[in-house]
Amino acid sequence: MLLLPKFDYEEPKSLQEALRVLSELKRKAKIIAGGTDLLVNMKKRAVVPGCLVSLRRIDALRLIERKRVSTEIGSHVTVSELASSEVITGALSVLARAASSLGSPLVRNRATAGGNIVTARPAADLPPALMVLGAKVVLKSKGKKRTVPLDGFFTGPGSTVMDHGEILTKIVIPAPPAFTGGDYIKLGHRAALEIAIVAVASRITLDGPNGAIKDARIVLSSVAPKAVHAVSAERMLVGERPSERLFAEAAKRAVGDSSPIDDIRGGAGYRRDMVEALTRRTLLRALNDAAGNA
Ligand SMILES: Cc1cc2nc3c(=O)[nH]c(=O)nc-3n(C[C@H](O)[C@H](O)[C@H](O)COP(=O)(O)OP(=O)(O)OC[C@H]3O[C@@H](n4cnc5c(N)ncnc54)[C@H](O)[C@@H]3O)c2cc1C
Repeated sequence: MLLLPKFDYEEPKSLQEALRVLSELKRKAKIIAGGTDLLVNMKKRAVVPGCLVSLRRIDALRLIERKRVSTEIGSHVTVSELASSEVITGALSVLARAASSLGSPLVRNRATAGGNIVTARPAADLPPALMVLGAKVVLKSKGKKRTVPLDGFFTGPGSTVMDHGEILTKIVIPAPPAFTGGDYIKLGHRAALEIAIVAVASRITLDGPNGAIKDARIVLSSVAPKAVHAVSAERMLVGERPSERLFAEAAKRAVGDSSPIDDIRGGAGYRRDMVEALTRRTLLRALNDAAGNA
């Protein structure tokens, strides 16, 4: 059995204290949230931090708040909380669906929204849903704060624009316009497998009941080094009347927006076929959802 390496442990009770500890300890310190990713990597000695700085006692990071023009989700909100919160299952149901498909109930109870974003796995479940929702993340370090759109946050597998000493404090999601609907489908070998073979999140906004498509967003996961927008498929949808035929054409375009590889979980050809199938299905379900969201 692999044991954890030795480390010091800090449990600050406020964000200011956490930022101070991180700036004092510099590269010796590593943030721990739910630990579902970090502790596995520490056991493998892939990371050996001198000190873990836990965020679990910082109440301000555990809130889900619906504001007038946005919803704010604290980075320490767990994936289970996201899957069951009424604020999320209502207007942001695409995110609730992504959260429900992450890991097993045991993992969801510990894993946090912030941890899922910062690990930057190409197959992570929350980023595609958050990207179609137009989410931004707030990053704080000692004396500094910046807000970064999630579309520009990931730079490759396991890497992001974050600097050492920064804490991802919250996720901000603009309120969706009327007649907007979304869906997320993850294809895995079995329900509780940790990573997707392919996953697709789609969101469409109509310009009225039974109207034309005003805005379309499709994000593909596990088929590129990071979650990517199916840009050419998105472009062909805007301004058009939704139909099964249009969605089938857009799904074909989405294949060209992906760059899958062969690996142990699936071949590139199979992944391309699944991008097409899941894009079409998520668009149809998003349309159904949009029509009812006046
Ligand atoms: C059995 C199993 C199944 C899994 N299944 C899935 C799955 O189906 N889908 C999926 O997407 N993932 C899956 N995972 C991976 C993992 O559970 C998630 O990525 C999880 O959301 C990570 O969150 P955490 O709070 O546990 O992060 P931690 O492990 O605590 O931290 C992960 C990394 O993020 C950093 N970090 C955490 N929070 C912050 C913050 N607020 N600011 C700055 N840095 C921060 C940490 O320093 C660390 O580098 C699985 C893991 C296991 C063990």
